[in-house]
Amino acid sequence: MTSDPTLLERLLAKRLLVPSGVDGLYGRSGAFESIIAGIDSIATRVSANDGTEWYRFPPAMARVEFERSGYMKSFPQLAGTVHAFCGDDHGHGLLIDQIEKGEDWSGGQEKTDLVLVPAACYPLYPMVGAQGPIRDGGRSFDIQSYTFRHEPSKDPARMQLFRMRENVRVGNQEQVLSFREMWIERAKAIMTELQLPFDIVPANDPFFGRTGRLLKASQREQGLKYELVIPVANTAPTACMSFNYHQDHFSQIWDLRFENGERAHTGCIGFGLERIALALLRHHDLDLERWPAPVRKALWGQ
Ligand code: ATP
Ligand code: ZN
Repeated sequence: MTSDPTLLERLLAKRLLVPSGVDGLYGRSGAFESIIAGIDSIATRVSANDGTEWYRFPPAMARVEFERSGYMKSFPQLAGTVHAFCGDDHGHGLLIDQIEKGEDWSGGQEKTDLVLVPAACYPLYPMVGAQGPIRDGGRSFDIQSYTFRHEPSKDPARMQLFRMRENVRVGNQEQVLSFREMWIERAKAIMTELQLPFDIVPANDPFFGRTGRLLKASQREQGLKYELVIPVANTAPTACMSFNYHQDHFSQIWDLRFENGERAHTGCIGFGLERIALALLRHHDLDLERWPAPVRKALWGQ
C-alpha cells in the first residue's frame, strides 16, 4: 500500500506532531490537541441523553486480566508488555555496563504485573464482571484511553500509541445490535457535519497467522465488525471508527450475566481520535483557522 509521505512531513514541519525518533510515536501540539478535544466534545454531545456510565482507565491493565482476555491467541504481534529491573547491586552494575557498551540489556528485565492496554475497552470487562449481575436493560459505558499496538509505520495514521474513545454496550443480543446500528447512524451524521468523505464497510481484526485467516473470514461473514473509513495518508481509505459485536466472547471470559442468570453479549464502538484529527487536517487544511466555519462550530462551538 502506498502512502502520502508528504502528509507526515508536513505535519512535522508544521509542528502539529513532534518526532521521537521512533516510527509511530509522536508528541502532539496544542493545536493538534484542540482537534482531539473538539472530537471528544462531539462524542459527549451526541450521547448526552444515553444514561451512559463514564470510566477512565490508565493505559496499562493487570497482566492476569490481559492473559484471561485471550489477546495473545489472536494478536501476539501487537501486544506490548511492561518489564522492569528487579535485580540487586550486582545486576545493576551489569545493566549499566551493558547500556554503556551498547549491548543488549533486556536479559536483566523481568515481567511486571502490567501490560499496555491494546484497546480502550479491555480494562472495562473485568470491572463489569466483578460488579455482579446486570439489570434487565443492560449497561452502557463511555471510556477513553491511550492504547498501544506494536505496529511501527511511516503512515502518520498508524501510530504505536494513540487514543480510542469508546462506547460499550453490555446487554442482550438485540440491545447490543441496535446500539451498534444507532452509533453507525450517529457516526455518519458526525462525519457529514465535519465535511469528511466516508464510507461504512465490513471489516475484520488483524488476527495473527494461519488460523487468523479463518477468523478474519468468519468475522466478516458474520458481520461482527464494520468500519467507517476515510482517505487519510494512504491511497486506500483508513479506518477512523469501528463498530464491533463481540457476541458473548468477553462475557464468557469474565462471566457477565443478567440477574436471571443469562449470559450477556457485548459490543463496542470506537473513535480513533488521532485518525479523525488527521483526516480533518488532510481534508480541510493544516491551518485550523482556514477550516470551514460549520466544521469549526461543530468542534469548538465558534
Ligand atoms: P475490539 O475492542 O473489538 O478489540 P476496537 O474497536 O477496540 O476492537 P479497533 O477496531 O482495532 O479496536 O480500533 C479502534 C479504532 O482505533 C480504529 O477504528 C482506528 O480508528 C483506531 N486505530 C486502530 N489502530 C490504530 C493505529 N495504529 N493508530 C491510530 N489509530 C488506530
Ligand atoms: Zn472495544
